[in-house]
Amino acid sequence: MNIKDHIRSIPDFPKPGIMFYDISTLLAHAEAWRDTVRQLKEAVEPHKPALLVGIESRGFLAAAPLALAMGLGFVMIRKRGKLPGDIITHNYDLEYGTDTIEIQADAIKPGTRVVVLDDLLATGGTMAAAISLLRRVGADVAAAQFIIELGFLNGAAKLDVPVQSVVRYE
Ligand code: 5GP
Repeated sequence: MNIKDHIRSIPDFPKPGIMFYDISTLLAHAEAWRDTVRQLKEAVEPHKPALLVGIESRGFLAAAPLALAMGLGFVMIRKRGKLPGDIITHNYDLEYGTDTIEIQADAIKPGTRVVVLDDLLATGGTMAAAISLLRRVGADVAAAQFIIELGFLNGAAKLDVPVQSVVRYE
């Protein structure tokens, strides 16, 4: 199964000049999606995580079925203001401005080995912020796993954990 055949690229989204890799078509194809989750499992299992973490919102689509397949729990990193209770907040810089991600303070016991998932690695800013946040709550981040990696943006260089992806565009 060639996963790339099921990823649609849409030019000029969300801004002119940006090529957007759309996973809607992958999610809509039962066999291709099952195979994607199988490949994610093969890549993540060797890291022996005790817990998986997904980054809102397309990271949830990868982390939740993988957690079920691996028999693990799943924790959400969300955008500002979405999580109830005691929250740890992390602000990070974007090209223009800043953004905020959050996790529930009691979601991860210190020392827990986790793998973080997102759908796509571009510049690496989102995943770098997620890893910083996870370390603040004491998580041991074993790896960052993506469905898609845009190799030409060299986002992996921003991440100090093993970086893996199912498909890569150069
Ligand atoms: P980065 O922080 O690595 O520059 O951007 C990655 C984040 O932006 C991810 O959370 C990802 O969901 C989103 N993203 C950026 N470009 C694309 C794209 O072409 N396709 C998809 N599906 N997500 C993208």
